[in-house]
Amino acid sequence: MTDSSRPKVVTTVAELRDTLASVRRAGGKIGLVPTMGALHEGHLSLVRRAKAECDYTVVSIYVNPSQFGPQEDLGSYPRTLEADLDALAGCGVELAFVPVDQEVYGQGHATWVEVGSVAEPLEGQCRPGHFCGVATIVLKLFNMVGAEVAYFGQKDYQQALVIRRMVEDLDLPIELRVCPIVREADGLAMSSRNAYLSLGGRQRALVLYRSLQLASELVRQGQRDPRTIAERMRAVITTAEDARIDYIALVDPDTLEPVGRITSPTLAALAVRIENTRLIDNCLLNAEF
Ligand code: AMP
Repeated sequence: MTDSSRPKVVTTVAELRDTLASVRRAGGKIGLVPTMGALHEGHLSLVRRAKAECDYTVVSIYVNPSQFGPQEDLGSYPRTLEADLDALAGCGVELAFVPVDQEVYGQGHATWVEVGSVAEPLEGQCRPGHFCGVATIVLKLFNMVGAEVAYFGQKDYQQALVIRRMVEDLDLPIELRVCPIVREADGLAMSSRNAYLSLGGRQRALVLYRSLQLASELVRQGQRDPRTIAERMRAVITTAEDARIDYIALVDPDTLEPVGRITSPTLAALAVRIENTRLIDNCLLNAEF
């Protein structure tokens, strides 16, 4: 891959705004894909959608410290900038925004975005402060880039819901697109964190997808009791001897509140640690209701 086909890389907000000013003057529609790098096909599916729908695509690559808890993997999070830029070149991305921490959180930074109830359960409960960090960085990226459209993955279902809430509540002038989960051939949801897994762990991690498939199948067969479904999912997951379940949740897809009975499309969401790598996945359970 030659350097010339790579996106332009900018590291400061001033350069970013300067570069985008001419795009905006020409009336170009700008799409933003926020990422933390270590790009895989899941990220690239968002990038391709942005390329198809916009005149100019900006991909941000920033491992946002404020969304990691003190015991989490900020220090070891995979950083693969050169390979990322090659992957973005392959998609024809125009601009990569790769800021350093001081550019994003200047001295004295003290403003944080708190989204209410949809940020509280599931990931919000397991990772206190996580969505405050996410909402803050996403709002900052929206303000820095000024894109018309931003692209997110359903892989982080709750994150997309939190951002949608923020966009509505704060009247942000941006459209959101949420793209389907991209999986490996065997069903494992693609994730930058999959790189932490050993070969054996990678195999055992398939229990997440299998449990979601089972949940879908049970609902298709007429099972309507969320507790029964969650128990059956748990039984699949615990066949992996080192699996540690953070949650298995059957919830309303809009509010994330637990459902008492499955009478409409329901979100099955789970977070499980395999070899101490925390993996999340989800699936909308649908049937003829
Ligand atoms: P991350 O780099 O993990 O912050 O992810 C950046 C964006 O890519 C988020 O909107 C994620 O939801 C999305 N994403 C990550 N993995 C996948 C996947 N397997 N399929 C679709 N989108 C994904």
